[in-house]
Amino acid sequence: MKKTEFVNLQKLASHVGDEMHQLMNELYPICRSITGDGVRKTLKIISKHVPLDIHEIETGSKVFDWTIPKEWNINDAYVADSTGNKIIDFQKSNLHVVNYSIPINKKVSLEELKKHIHTIPEKPELIPYMTSYYNENWGFCMSHNEFKKLSEDEYHVIIDSTLKEGSLTYGEYYLKGETDEEILFSTYVCHPSLCNDNLSGIVLTTMLAKYLTNLSKKYSIRFLFIPETIGAITWLCVNEKLVSNIKHGLVVTCVGDSGTFTYKKSRQGNTEIDRTVIEVLRKTNKDFRIKDFFPWGSDERQFCSPGFNLPVGSLYRSQYGTSEFPEYHTSADNLDFVKKESLIEAFSTYLSIILNLEQDNTKKIALNKELSERPELIKNNDLPEGHDLVYYNLYPKCEPNLGKRGLYSMLGGQNKPEINRFKFTLLWLLNFSDGKHSLLDISTRSGIEFNAIKNAAKILEEHGILNFQQNFFE
Ligand code: ZN
Repeated sequence: MKKTEFVNLQKLASHVGDEMHQLMNELYPICRSITGDGVRKTLKIISKHVPLDIHEIETGSKVFDWTIPKEWNINDAYVADSTGNKIIDFQKSNLHVVNYSIPINKKVSLEELKKHIHTIPEKPELIPYMTSYYNENWGFCMSHNEFKKLSEDEYHVIIDSTLKEGSLTYGEYYLKGETDEEILFSTYVCHPSLCNDNLSGIVLTTMLAKYLTNLSKKYSIRFLFIPETIGAITWLCVNEKLVSNIKHGLVVTCVGDSGTFTYKKSRQGNTEIDRTVIEVLRKTNKDFRIKDFFPWGSDERQFCSPGFNLPVGSLYRSQYGTSEFPEYHTSADNLDFVKKESLIEAFSTYLSIILNLEQDNTKKIALNKELSERPELIKNNDLPEGHDLVYYNLYPKCEPNLGKRGLYSMLGGQNKPEINRFKFTLLWLLNFSDGKHSLLDISTRSGIEFNAIKNAAKILEEHGILNFQQNFFE
């Protein structure tokens, strides 16, 4: 690869910033979901910049422990009061409808309507983003302030949607380099009108693909535009044979807010991509954070499931799902929230990472030693009973489908700590039950109280997901 060409690309960054922002504006109004025309429309717009290969995987296809769901599409939705006044209107914001709502056309009382309305009382001005992919249901989302104004009346509820046999759509762009060894960039295309969480990743990945097209490279580069979770599981299932080519990878998400960069390491934790991203961030002389791998988050969950354990990390800014990103999964994650300067800086950082991977990695090996010095596990003389139990996840490739076993809330998008706690415990157990980590290791690494880990392991064992064995390699 010619280094000068990369330097020229860095100079392009501000121009690319305009392009990214413009593309974001174009994609923002589309009601995307994990299947359906919203994804197709999105991929078609991306295809104006890079010639994507579009794949359709039929409803009912088995992908590891999952099944491709029915395809969802929506034309319109509203709730009207008895005078015909639309008090909730999908045309004003697609977040108003619970994503994947089944069609409905009926008159309901206020009491019944309320059962299907979701709000965030702590953020009364904002509309939440909610999904119900794997449980047929319907619902609306609105601001809590508007919700409080609802009075006794007969309401007309219309959701003009379809949920039927179809397919799951994803896009892929493969740039052949001198070798078959690959760098993977994966982003998701399933969120409706949300900007940082979703669109920032899409526009950055698109522009990386576009501007790397004509450079000669040592590595081949693969760009994935897939629905989150089910799309990653599908891609891994369909392309299992290709997976060994992936030498480095990043999940691109939430890069457009004003927060400092956060690098979430791969599950292996000390691979070349981990060392490279950290080296690039250090050179910026700006604040950044490094996080050890955790098994919730985006599609690194699937790429780093124990049966694949790929060198895939994720570089983003503010930590989604925490108080430092209160706009997450709400109507406040809009076009004003994402800053062009942040996108430009992210573009430039991702480019530097690729440039670094392309260069020889002698310097990075020196970093290796430094990074491998991990804090010792806390010594505990009073070890709890069962501390040395070691389980095997019987579904090591991607995540098993917990929803169909009743172990996972079917309503997605919500960010409530009480719902998340049990879910996170299960995810930690699934990811680290590889016959090498004891329950105490998992408790120490996750920070989750030991008994919660132990109880959840028992539940997974009862569902035939974990298989308990003593660790006889000690
Ligand atoms: Zn999200």
